[in-house]
Amino acid sequence: MPPLASAWDAVLYDGVLRKGTAMTAFVFPAPVQPSVAVAGQSARFPVRRIFCVGRNYAEHAREMGHDPSAEPPFFFTKPADALVASGEHIAYPVGTLDFHHEAELVVALGSGGSDVPAASALALIWGYAAGNDLTRRDVQSAAKAARRPWDMSKGFDRSAVVGAIRSAQAGAPSGHIRCLVDGVVKQDADLAEMIWPVAQIVSHLSRLVELRQGDLIFTGTPAGVGPIAAGQTCEVQINGLEPAVVHVT
Ligand code: MN
Repeated sequence: MPPLASAWDAVLYDGVLRKGTAMTAFVFPAPVQPSVAVAGQSARFPVRRIFCVGRNYAEHAREMGHDPSAEPPFFFTKPADALVASGEHIAYPVGTLDFHHEAELVVALGSGGSDVPAASALALIWGYAAGNDLTRRDVQSAAKAARRPWDMSKGFDRSAVVGAIRSAQAGAPSGHIRCLVDGVVKQDADLAEMIWPVAQIVSHLSRLVELRQGDLIFTGTPAGVGPIAAGQTCEVQINGLEPAVVHVT
């Protein structure tokens, strides 16, 4: 890419007029950039999009009534402003009587691309975090039955708990992934049980959308999903990562 002549050139460079640069005036203040804490440093990880994988552990696929060997990975999204930091208190969400936890490894991308081969996909990863894909299970079940979208069961406000991101320089996490509700273990599996490993997930997703720096990918949950009640605390633990804790009020 040649040197940029001005900030205005920069916003036009990839062919899309991108708002949010210093030269753009808004009719009201632009929303705050969603971000996640980084373990061991004060600078935060700015989040662009949140993608999630469905049914990536065989036991969980079976508990939801599906054949884990029959399907390629599939994806849904949450808005970036659904992020919840570890340790936050959130209100029991409106619109559900069956609010569920889903413990997941979250991948944070430091660079992007399209049609990324699995062999080079891990090079895109900036870091890893523990996450909780909070779900309105009753709304999801109704959507499935009616063949309607999942957005309001998955992409609602304060539905994406993410713990501090650990740099990928420390290596890819391996070992246990657990979810505890008020200290009682509800989900307990090993990251090696994923049907689609992280490199395959990134590669598949990059064939559907152009991935970019700042994207997060929730990589699916093991068996044992279940309810969280008001007054309870839910903690996701992944070997080598900061926990992702949420208090429901
Ligand atoms: Mn999930």
